[in-house]
Amino acid sequence: MSKFFADAEESFEESNFIIYGYPYDGTACFRKGTAEAPDAIREQSFNFETNLMELGIDLVDVPANDWGNIELGSNQEENNARIKSLVSEIISKNKFPIGLGGEHSLTPPVIEAMVEKYPNLNVLIMDAHLDFRDGYEGNHWSHASTTRRIFDLLGPNNIWLLGVRSASSTEVSEARASKLNYTESGWVDLREHLADMLDLFQGPLYLSLDMDVIDPAFAPGIGTPEPFGMTPYEVVQTINFVSDNLVGFDCVEVCPPFDNGNTSALAARLTRHLMGIVHRIKN
Ligand code: MN
Ligand code: MN
Repeated sequence: MSKFFADAEESFEESNFIIYGYPYDGTACFRKGTAEAPDAIREQSFNFETNLMELGIDLVDVPANDWGNIELGSNQEENNARIKSLVSEIISKNKFPIGLGGEHSLTPPVIEAMVEKYPNLNVLIMDAHLDFRDGYEGNHWSHASTTRRIFDLLGPNNIWLLGVRSASSTEVSEARASKLNYTESGWVDLREHLADMLDLFQGPLYLSLDMDVIDPAFAPGIGTPEPFGMTPYEVVQTINFVSDNLVGFDCVEVCPPFDNGNTSALAARLTRHLMGIVHRIKN
C-alpha cells in the first residue's frame, strides 16, 4: 500500500472507524481492474478538506485507522476466511468496519462476521445489478452472486436492494419467488421506498455500496457500467436516511483503469460523508 486513507492516522485501538482494502478482481466478468481501487480511492481521498461542510463535522475530530489491504491469493475460500477474521476483530472491539473494494465478492464474508455479533442484522445493497445468480461461470463466490450469498445467510426479510436496473430473466423470477425486496432505479419515490424498508427492518444495518448504482455519467470508472442510474446526491440522501442504524459499510467495484480519477474521488467523498454522519450520531 502506497498510501493510507486521508485523516485515518489514529491507532487501531483508539479508532472508531477501521478502513481496510480488498484488492481483488478475480471473478470480474467484463473489465478487470477493480483490484487497483483501494489504493486509488486512498489517493483521491487527499483531494478533500478535512472539514465536511454539509455536516459541520471535521474529520480531524473523527478517530479512524487505515488497517491496509488484506493479503489475498487466488483461493476465494481462504480470502473469505481472512476477511471474516479481520471484520470479526474490528467489530469485537465495537469499531465500525469500512471495506474498500475490490469487487463485490467482498461482502458475503463480511456479512458472515457481522451476523455473529448482530443476529438481527439488516443489509441494504445499493447496486445496478441484482447479483442474485446462484454462482456464475461455475463460481459460487462470483461478484454476480453477492446478493444470493447474503440471501442464503439472512433470508428475505433482512435484505433490501436499491437502484437495480439489470438482471437476467432467471434472476428476476427467482428473486420474485424468493420474495427478495428490491427497488428499481428510476422514477420511484426514493424516500417512500426507504421508509418502507425501515418499516421492515428493525435494528442494526449494514450498507454495501456497489458504485455502479450511480449513473455512469457521474461514475464512469466501473467494472460493469449501467445507464439510467442514481445521482451521487441521491446516494448521500440514502446514507443520511439510514445513518441512525449503520454498523458497517463497504464501497466496491470502482475500476481505476477505466477512470479519470473522478469515480475514485466520488467513492472517497461518499465514504468520508458516511464517516462524518455516523460520527455525529454517536457523539
Ligand atoms: Mn454488485
Ligand atoms: Mn453492480
